[in-house]
Amino acid sequence: MDWKGGRRSNNVEDLRGAPLAAGAGGLAILFRFLPFLLSTRIGRIILLVGVLGFAAAHFLGIDVMRVIGGQPTQQSAQPLTAQEQELTDFVSVVLGSTEDVWATQFQKAGSNYEAPVLSIFSDRVASACGLGQSATGPFYCPADKKLYIDLSFYQEMKNRLGAPGDFAQAYVIAHEVGHHVQNLLGVADKVRQAQQGKSQAEVNALSVKLELQADCFAGMWGHFADSERGMLEAGDIDEALNAAAAIGDDRLQKQSTGTVRPESFTHGSSKQRAEWFNRGFQSGSINDCNTFKN
Ligand SMILES: [Zn+2]
Repeated sequence: MDWKGGRRSNNVEDLRGAPLAAGAGGLAILFRFLPFLLSTRIGRIILLVGVLGFAAAHFLGIDVMRVIGGQPTQQSAQPLTAQEQELTDFVSVVLGSTEDVWATQFQKAGSNYEAPVLSIFSDRVASACGLGQSATGPFYCPADKKLYIDLSFYQEMKNRLGAPGDFAQAYVIAHEVGHHVQNLLGVADKVRQAQQGKSQAEVNALSVKLELQADCFAGMWGHFADSERGMLEAGDIDEALNAAAAIGDDRLQKQSTGTVRPESFTHGSSKQRAEWFNRGFQSGSINDCNTFKN
């Protein structure tokens, strides 16, 4: 993939080493249980002991966030390695090109594209959709319109999932951007409404359609990244199709190590994912990405 020199998006935020990311996650959990803690006598005592303990530890100079599993505060001062910097540049350029492609598509349809923010985190992050963890894989949160990715996922794709290559990495971003587009178009809301009161099988079937459409939208991005920017090189499409297949549910479930992967059972089969990516890539038209049509 020929990405160097491409426009870098300004919508990338780097939360690696931000102590707040882990701290806020802890606070989010605390607030969730706060009504419960306050409602009982024992809960109030636990809370009081906790607050006093926190204050005492702080007074004694103990880094509490570190002790409870937060990221060490020193990490924020650590400069990125050359490899981390290059990967950060890479995702910024890919995000930039999705912005250009979707802005044009929305403009053609007479509306404006509101670009999402891409948050790079390490280990865990507090999103408006709850605590995100590296083990969950990259995700999109409709509530804050942000894409979240721990760049170590790319290592996992290469080493564990058998999906190497920069275009495979770009496809992951383009897929999450696809979820953002669904959010803007109101598709995600409609699907959530349609899922109300349905059986688990029907709920899953609709989720699969949503996922396959995000793959088709990722393919659309690939179409324009190729035809308008000449970003694609020989073998790139195979990389993306391979990645789409590698992170389909059937394979993920086979490789599952017992880690919770909320999205894994709702993505569709390897074959379906590759097919819909290819459809979007061939046509470049949103009309060919209607996965809901029977
Ligand atoms: Zn998805």
